[in-house]
Amino acid sequence: MKIAVCPGSFDPVTYGHIDIISRAADLFDRLYVVVLPNPRKKPCFTVEERLDMLREVLAHLDNVVCEQYEGLVVDYAQSRGAIAIVRGLRAVSDFEFEFKMASMNHHLDPEIETVFMMTSNEYSFISSSAVKEIASFGGDVSQWISPIVAERLKARIARATGTRKGLNP
Ligand code: ADP
Repeated sequence: MKIAVCPGSFDPVTYGHIDIISRAADLFDRLYVVVLPNPRKKPCFTVEERLDMLREVLAHLDNVVCEQYEGLVVDYAQSRGAIAIVRGLRAVSDFEFEFKMASMNHHLDPEIETVFMMTSNEYSFISSSAVKEIASFGGDVSQWISPIVAERLKARIARATGTRKGLNP
């Protein structure tokens, strides 16, 4: 059985993520989508909220399991018997960071391959941060996130506006 992991912040999950995950799910027997708390990013949703949304929007994919993890991706991958880490690439600007990360992970465990998948054209400019920014200024983001996610983002923005708490959980 060929198993892979797809790690990310998913804050929140977009159609760009879903595209990569669905295509990776076709290539592997099982795919673990794992939410990691990213210390470089200030989150909008808690890890549990992000996981909930992922589970809802990926419910139709039988061989996809969504989990959360705190620690090294390679340790998580080993614990799940994975042979690969799947990451999406949008633009050249993603490359340098992803290259460093893949090299580091290879150093930590040479048996786990990082597999890059090119974004589909229509999603190449979508990121969770762009979606949050546009939505916070009242823009329409319905083409980039599922209705379930849009609803939760709307509620988070309404709360932020009411309390001046910002978008953080
Ligand atoms: P991270 O904080 O680890 O970069 P993200 O949630 O931002 O996590 O992204 C998870 C993965 O999904 C990354 O490999 C990222 O490049 C990829 N990704 C994000 N948006 C898109 C998109 N629109 N098209 C293709 N891949 C994407």
